[in-house]
Amino acid sequence: MANALHVSGIVLPEGGHREFWVVDGRISSTPIPDAQRIDGGWVLPGLVDAHCHIGLDANGGVSVEEQEAQAVTERDAGVLLARDCGVPVDTHWMDDRPDLPRIVRAGRHVARTKRYLRNYGVEVEPDELVETVAEQAEHGDGWVKIVGDWIDRDAGDLGPCWPADVLHEAVDRAHRLGARVTTHVFGESALPDLLAAGVDCIEHGTGLSAEELAAMAEAGTALVPTLINIAEFPQIAQQAESKFPAYAAHIRGLHARVDEMVRTAWELGVPLYAGTDAGGVLPHGLVAREVMALHRAGLPAREALGAACWRARSWLGHPANLDDGAPADFVVLETDPFEELESLVHPAAVVLRGAAYRP
Ligand SMILES: [Zn+2]
Repeated sequence: MANALHVSGIVLPEGGHREFWVVDGRISSTPIPDAQRIDGGWVLPGLVDAHCHIGLDANGGVSVEEQEAQAVTERDAGVLLARDCGVPVDTHWMDDRPDLPRIVRAGRHVARTKRYLRNYGVEVEPDELVETVAEQAEHGDGWVKIVGDWIDRDAGDLGPCWPADVLHEAVDRAHRLGARVTTHVFGESALPDLLAAGVDCIEHGTGLSAEELAAMAEAGTALVPTLINIAEFPQIAQQAESKFPAYAAHIRGLHARVDEMVRTAWELGVPLYAGTDAGGVLPHGLVAREVMALHRAGLPAREALGAACWRARSWLGHPANLDDGAPADFVVLETDPFEELESLVHPAAVVLRGAAYRP
């Protein structure tokens, strides 16, 4: 049959050798004659970048051509499902393109006036937060993104962006509309109100205390630490040093303890996911580096990989295993990623909706 695939390899996360076939974009255990063979290696469900921005660069929204190039870069790195954490352009056109990754969007960043990167978000004052969140819930795919803290230039340091009562109301409103709420937060001071408001996920979360992590584990609140992005903090501190010395010292301190925070989160049972934050400062296609960074921070290899694969897929409502009937979205590796996560850097083949790509 034309375009059918016959895949043989050790299928993760279960392990053990399996053969399966791919037809009409789905996995099947029924043999198909004359199918094109793909020999793993190791075969795992499509990778997930749980925090990236397809359609964004350091200056804001990008052209359709560049949006496409970013999406192709992610696909070739094995990212077949991305959670987009805020872009100023509408990338829903990609949903009609079978060669581009599946994207779960969070609309545009909702930020306080002049308290975020220029050209990224919808910037509003507290009295407009609830309505803006409701609007962005309409534009997203089940997520809304609120910028919870940013540098307060008058104070010269990180500070919360929103009063507790409007946050609470905004999160309730999003939940009633069926959207989950995630929030950007670097420092300590915004966290108590955000967690009390019932947000579903914390992005970065460098200021999280062990007590707050324990509460997150209890509530099932997710954490996407974006370690390879936090690795940029010393450089940001250097640039900010002369104008905002307290801020510079603060983020240096947050950077110094981020691995310990992630290890504690892991030990306490906080649901952790791998996100690169590509699209702002970092380029796309770096999910393997984030998985390795999670491992260096203390997650066992299997868990670091699960944070970018089966566990992240379930979290975003997509099948976690390559079972019969599941969408044929998978990555083929030459060596065992549980033994050596570097195996993820150059996939031997990427199959998306049943079509094979050789990056
Ligand atoms: Zn981001």
